[in-house]
Amino acid sequence: MQNKLLIATTNPGKIREIKSLLSSLPAVLLTLKDISFHQKIEEDGSSYLENALKKGITYAQQSGLITLADDSGLEVSVLNGKPGIQSARFSPKPNASDADRRAYLLDLLKDYPQPWEARFVCTVVICLPDNRHYAYEGTCAGQIIAEERGHNGFGYDPIFLLPGLNLTMAELTMEQKNQFSHRAHAIQSALPYLTILLGKKS
Ligand code: IMP
Repeated sequence: MQNKLLIATTNPGKIREIKSLLSSLPAVLLTLKDISFHQKIEEDGSSYLENALKKGITYAQQSGLITLADDSGLEVSVLNGKPGIQSARFSPKPNASDADRRAYLLDLLKDYPQPWEARFVCTVVICLPDNRHYAYEGTCAGQIIAEERGHNGFGYDPIFLLPGLNLTMAELTMEQKNQFSHRAHAIQSALPYLTILLGKKS
């Protein structure tokens, strides 16, 4: 029987990227939807690690599966690292969309001089049903720009510029984003351990 790995997120953008980053593993990659888990876990921790562990440990124990969870965010220097762990909820508007959050961020930034230095941060955790867990972090430095560019990706991608490439994250293909992103760096660090747990495609 093939090994299984649970990817503990419901964000379709993250799922696409993570599945592609893990394509060298001979495991069946399952999402929460695949195993009909609809329980929402409150992300009320004070760090990316705390939030990722809360999700990873809960889902690993409930599903009995090796589980990969992540927590990520955007940190803008002139806003002292905000929105940070609040990135997914960063808007006063009820039921805000990604576009609302980008507009809210740009509105806050308009009074500060450019360039608006920023970075994405991602903590990935691998959790086992017996409570063992391991954490990996990745970052990606860039700048926030005032005009949206590109249609790929999700979240803050259209306003996050990679100055070395002069492209926003949303102008990259998924394969390119998976070379440079915070999530890619964290998952690449986790891959040796995942390969020990799950094996490698021959
Ligand atoms: P969480 O990890 O589910 O708490 O969500 C993190 C939030 O940070 C997302 O909803 C996005 O708003 C933002 N974010 C995290 N990673 C990315 C990314 O790769 N691109 C764009 N936005 C991101």
